[in-house]
Amino acid sequence: MIPLVDLKAQHRQIADEVARGFAEVLENTSFILGSPVERFEQAFAKASGVRYCVGVANGTDAIELALRAAGVGSGNEVLVPVNSFIATALAVVRAGATPVFVDSDPDYHLIDLARAKTTRRTKAIIPVHLFGQLAPMEQVADFARNHELIVIEDAAQAQLARRNGRTAGSFGLAAATSFYPGKNLGAYGDGGAVLTDSDAVAKKLRALRNYGSEVKYHHPELGFNSRLDALQAVVLSAKLARLEEWNAKRREAARRYDEMLAGLPEVVLPRTLAGNEHIWHLYVVRVPSRDEVMKRMQASGIGVGVHYPVPIHLQGAFAHLGCKRGDFPVAEKAAAQMLSLPMFAEITVEQQERVVAELKNALGQIRARG
Ligand SMILES: *Cc1c(COP(=O)(O)O)cnc(C)c1O
Repeated sequence: MIPLVDLKAQHRQIADEVARGFAEVLENTSFILGSPVERFEQAFAKASGVRYCVGVANGTDAIELALRAAGVGSGNEVLVPVNSFIATALAVVRAGATPVFVDSDPDYHLIDLARAKTTRRTKAIIPVHLFGQLAPMEQVADFARNHELIVIEDAAQAQLARRNGRTAGSFGLAAATSFYPGKNLGAYGDGGAVLTDSDAVAKKLRALRNYGSEVKYHHPELGFNSRLDALQAVVLSAKLARLEEWNAKRREAARRYDEMLAGLPEVVLPRTLAGNEHIWHLYVVRVPSRDEVMKRMQASGIGVGVHYPVPIHLQGAFAHLGCKRGDFPVAEKAAAQMLSLPMFAEITVEQQERVVAELKNALGQIRARG
C-alpha cells in the first residue's frame, strides 16, 4: 500500500524533538498561545519574508479573519477561483461577504483573470496558490490595482513556495495559510496563520483571534476564539526547520514522475508556471476515464485522490448563488480528469515506479476493454 501522503515517515524524523517540546509544554501547563507560539510565529514570518505571522485555529479561520481585518464584509463581493478547496469560499461567506467565482486556466489550473467579472461591490480577490505553486501574482496585482481590490492570498498549499524569488504570503495585504496535518507544513491537529507586513492588520488580527480583546476582559469590538495551541507550535517549529529540505525532495520526486510518465500519451503532466518554484503539495495529472483509473489504482493499493471532484460553484452549499453546469467550463472539464498521485518528501524511487506501473496497467485495461 502506497498512501497519498505518508505522515508517519515525516513524524519519525522529528519524533524526539516533538517529545521534548511536548514535555516542556506539559511541564509549563501553558497550552494556548504563549512563547512556543510566538517563537513559531516569528520563525514562519521570517521564512516567508513578512514582518508578522498571527497563529489561528485553522486555515478557514485564517482566511475569514484576514478578510475581516482588511475591512471586507457585508455588502462586498470577493473573487474566488472555482477550482479550489471549498474553504476558500466558505471563509468569504463567514466574513459576511459574497463569493464571486472565477474560472481557472487550462494548463496550470490557477485563477484566470481574463475571466474575472467585477462589479461596484467587488472589494477583494483571493488568489489560491493551488497544489503548491503560486497564482500569477503580477497579473493579480495589476488586476487588483485597476479595479481597486484588496488581495488576500490563500497560501494553504504553498508554504515557502516562491515566485521569482519572492515567497508565498508576501504578495497580498495579507495571506492565509493552513496547518492541516496533510499540508506541506502540517500540525498534529488543526492550525492556521495569517501573514502580513501591515502593522494595522496584524494588530487587528491579534485582537480578532482573541475575543476582540487587546487588554484582558476589555472588548471594544466583536471577536472570535481562534488561536494556535502551544503543542501545535512545537510540531510546526520542528517541521519548519526542515521544510526547505522536504520541499526540495518533493521537487525531486515530481521531476522523477515527469520522467517516468513522459512516454504515456494519455497522461497530461502537471505544468509549472514560468517563474514559480513549485513545492508540490499535490502532483496532479490528467487522465481519460479518471474515475475508473482511480478505482483500479486504489484496488491495487495506490492511494490516489482527486482534488477536487466538484468545482465550488456546483457544490450544494452554494446553490443559492444560482451557478449552473457550463458556467466555468475549464474548471469543470479539469475536475473530471484530474488525478493526484502519491506525493511526499520521503517517497522512494521504487514506490514511484510502482505508482507508474499501476497507472499504466489501469490505462491498458481500460484501453483493451475499449
Ligand atoms: C486546506 C485548505 C484550506 C482550509 O484550511 P483548514 O485548515 O482545513 O481550515 C483553505 N484553502 C485551501 C486551498 C486549502 O487547501
